[in-house]
Amino acid sequence: MSDFPEFIKFLYEEYRHLNSGSLASYIPELTKADPNWFAISIVTKEGEIFEIGDHLQNFTIQSISKVFVYGMALEDCDRETLLEKIGVEPTGDPFNSVIRLDENSKRPDNPMVNAGAIATAGLIKGSNATEKLNRMLDMFRRYIGHDVFIDAPVFMSERATGHRNRALANLLLNFDIIENNIEEILDFYFQQCALVVNCHDLAVMAATLANRGINPIAKKQAVKPCYVRDILSVMYTCGMYNYAGEWAYRVGIPAKSGVSGGIIGVIPDRAGIAVFSPLIDSRGNSVRGIKVFEALSDQFNLHLFDSPLPKCSFLDISKNSEELISKPLKVTFDKSKSL
Ligand code: GLU
Repeated sequence: MSDFPEFIKFLYEEYRHLNSGSLASYIPELTKADPNWFAISIVTKEGEIFEIGDHLQNFTIQSISKVFVYGMALEDCDRETLLEKIGVEPTGDPFNSVIRLDENSKRPDNPMVNAGAIATAGLIKGSNATEKLNRMLDMFRRYIGHDVFIDAPVFMSERATGHRNRALANLLLNFDIIENNIEEILDFYFQQCALVVNCHDLAVMAATLANRGINPIAKKQAVKPCYVRDILSVMYTCGMYNYAGEWAYRVGIPAKSGVSGGIIGVIPDRAGIAVFSPLIDSRGNSVRGIKVFEALSDQFNLHLFDSPLPKCSFLDISKNSEELISKPLKVTFDKSKSL
């Protein structure tokens, strides 16, 4: 057996006691998370699974949903129509910033910040709110491969406290980006954020994007392959809040994080990676999640701009990965301690 599963265990042991960061508290229900939860899941495009920790622990997807609803909007509207309403420029601002929309762009900069995600929610087709919600749930079902549901207390909690999002929606209406059904659009947005997932599900969803939109376990098409490139592009440039640039530099994997502590990463044509740990930094990214992704990227040359190495694919686990494991790491991997 290759060292790859051992390396995942090693990372889990290495970072499980890293306790910096804090739980998101601006959505009151999210403070009920256990700060110790920690999971790493990897699903290859062939459907192989490597995972460790609390990978079956449920939590709400939060901002990671933006990736998938954006895919839905691409299918509903097509690329150029969508671009007229929502840009694809990274902002360098916090995800819930209001100022930029008002002072500069008058159009959301990208679909990964809240302004853009709310605008995206407003473009989803359906004759009424129920039909739109059902279409959204169907879309998530295809990515996840089993039934899905929404965490009602988290939805209600955010609906009751999401005043910034309400402000953004009003500005979007003012700039003719959305229509005058603000409460319906916000409900849709809060519902997508309150979708219940676990780390395993997230890795399957990421693997689906890695596999040209086909869920590698359920073997179902979740999104049209022609839009996967667009989705991955905004993940790469805008997916990690105002850490997106440094993430692209250090990790180099199209990714998206959420304030509940999940991060997904897509290695095109190879695998989906998900890490879950609810302790987040000041920008909203999981602290342990960043560490795990950095180490994986370093160790297995997963940065998009790493030059291809012979036998560097961790998916090819039948091949000996000694050479990779011996590469210098920011963390020290002592194989004698591996489980
Ligand atoms: N529902 C959250 C909000 O709109 C999502 C934030 C996030 O995960 O970045 O504030």
